[in-house]
Amino acid sequence: MFVIQTEIEADDDALVELASAAQAALSHLNVCETLPNQRRMTTIEIARIADARPTGHGWIARCSSHSDRSPSLSIREGRDGRTLLKCFAGCEPAAIAAALGLNIRDLFGNNSSAATPRARAVSAADVEESLQGELTRIVAEESAAAGFGVATLTRHRNAARAIVERRLAVTLRHERTPWHEVSPHALDPAWSMCVDQALHVAAARTGMAIATLRHAVEDFPRVQHGVLRLARKLQRDLCGPRALFKDRAA
Ligand SMILES: [Zn+2]
Repeated sequence: MFVIQTEIEADDDALVELASAAQAALSHLNVCETLPNQRRMTTIEIARIADARPTGHGWIARCSSHSDRSPSLSIREGRDGRTLLKCFAGCEPAAIAAALGLNIRDLFGNNSSAATPRARAVSAADVEESLQGELTRIVAEESAAAGFGVATLTRHRNAARAIVERRLAVTLRHERTPWHEVSPHALDPAWSMCVDQALHVAAARTGMAIATLRHAVEDFPRVQHGVLRLARKLQRDLCGPRALFKDRAA
């Protein structure tokens, strides 16, 4: 019971902790996957190394791979982002690259069209699934430590979502706060049971079908108020004088 009290007081801390744990867990999504090899060079960088001068379509330089008196090396950015080296004396690109102190891989492009670090497509669904899994794990761990089922509020989960959204630049669906999630009651592990019981009692009293009442309670504030009042009473009856869940609304 003491723990529950602490839980309520630490409400906002719990929120922050939940969110940061979720955030940490999501780092495994590793959204920004760089190319398997090191950063490759841009055509402009290669042109600089070759001491090339710009032409209409690219650059021209003296070829380092043969003794070149007049510039016969054409350097261009290919459509796929690769750097194209063409020696009019017939040197192979690999030989030219080597003569420039480059790896042949450097020619395979780090131009915008080809491949700045590629952001792996992470769908909102992937993120949501991962977040849900992590939240479930956190709640299970906290529940095990507390010795009772720890509840999380919708706003806790939405706060975690907001952090993850900022961090991963995705848009997640936020949960709507359900009518019966009334702070601080909703943090009581017994609360949902009390709400359920209150619905049954109210249904019996009014002769309404439980399904009808469930709809009515969503739509009519007065019905909702009545059921919540009943649920609070049941909670007090159930928990005795444990005035831990003070009715802030009252
Ligand atoms: Zn050459």
